[in-house]
Amino acid sequence: MLIIISGPSGSGKGTVVRSLDPSRNYAMSISVTTRKKRDGEVDGVDYFFRTIEEFEEMREQGEFLEHALFVGNYYGTPRSYVNEQIALGKAVFLEIEVNGALQVKEKFNDAVLIFLLPPTMNELRQRLISRNTEDPETIEDRLRRAREEIKLIDKYNYLVVNDYVDNAVNEINTIIEAEYLKPHRN
Ligand code: 5GP
Repeated sequence: MLIIISGPSGSGKGTVVRSLDPSRNYAMSISVTTRKKRDGEVDGVDYFFRTIEEFEEMREQGEFLEHALFVGNYYGTPRSYVNEQIALGKAVFLEIEVNGALQVKEKFNDAVLIFLLPPTMNELRQRLISRNTEDPETIEDRLRRAREEIKLIDKYNYLVVNDYVDNAVNEINTIIEAEYLKPHRN
């Protein structure tokens, strides 16, 4: 099973995904990005940080399951890891933006698409400011992008509002349990 979680930058995707049911032993895909590494991020753990040239080379070699440009940087999901984990029967999590999510849905029709929403746009702005990882201009670009992404939520199977992390995590765990029970997955 492929589970995709999208949502505006600052909606808390990372926090929620890290808190999911550990007993499930999900495979977490690590993306490739051309974005600059933030303080505390580790190459090969948070992302594979690559140059634009390296990214383009990978894209030309067909190494991505999907890829997208997001606020000036490229992001892509390496195809090989996802295929390996699916072959092992594992559920794979992708934390990716909407254009990439829709590309995956085209290829894997039974992928589960979950959109994580912040309680309000104002709260989203506050989270991005207090996270202190982007300059004010980039924050505005990311908020503009958030409004665009939200327009595509009807393409998603589930919407979860991240007001309290514990609630959002419980809801996502329940969604996944319910998906496991669907007859076409057995
Ligand atoms: P950030 O720069 O904040 O880490 O990520 C920016 C956006 O890119 C987030 O919405 C994140 O989910 C998305 N993203 C991360 N990895 C990928 C990927 O491999 N593919 C796509 N399409 N989006 C990604």
